[in-house]
Amino acid sequence: MVVTRPQKTTPVFFNWIAAMMIPDNPDRFSSKTSPVEPSPDPASREAVSETSEATVQGQAEQEQDRYFMGLALEEAHSAGCLDEVPIGAVLVLNGQVLARGHNQTRWRRDPCAHAELRAIQRATQATGDLRLPGAVVYTTVEPCFMCAGALVHARVERVVWGVRDKKFGGCVSLGHVLDHPDANHQVKYTEGVRADEAADLLRTFFKSKREAARKKRSQDRS
Ligand SMILES: [Zn+2]
Repeated sequence: MVVTRPQKTTPVFFNWIAAMMIPDNPDRFSSKTSPVEPSPDPASREAVSETSEATVQGQAEQEQDRYFMGLALEEAHSAGCLDEVPIGAVLVLNGQVLARGHNQTRWRRDPCAHAELRAIQRATQATGDLRLPGAVVYTTVEPCFMCAGALVHARVERVVWGVRDKKFGGCVSLGHVLDHPDANHQVKYTEGVRADEAADLLRTFFKSKREAARKKRSQDRS
């Protein structure tokens, strides 16, 4: 997901995770993609047929989103194993994974080494192209302003993410970089895909960080 996270951000992230987990927040993981409505005119066979096709297409897209988000979750898990905030991304073009990336800000000492940017950079290196039209990026956390801007610059078609980032998210939480009406390119997005799994990774990571910090304080006192 993803953002410039200084070393001492644990309290911020716990607030962030807590905000995400508020059960009575109706739009917590709401998706901008509208469900397909049944035809209001059942007498119209053509309308029903078109609706059925759209429904099947919608279900296929949902299954595809869940599959590719699983790969992004694997990337996030890899980041966590390397002591990075567990956020992962994959970039898909023509139904194939073109590039993967996970958060590497701590290891690289680089606030720009976010999962989405890593995936975009690898994809453009692979294609030799500045733009990535038709690409879909799956990321476990809502992209920040920096990554959302890069996704627009790359002319990505759609972004799918798991959980919102209430502190840094630049797509719906704090801004609307992806679909600003005045921009020369708008990126479609879907949110809430396998959100619980993305949140679990973050929760486990920061819990271990908090326990390690508590243990160190205890050792320092003794
Ligand atoms: Zn980012």
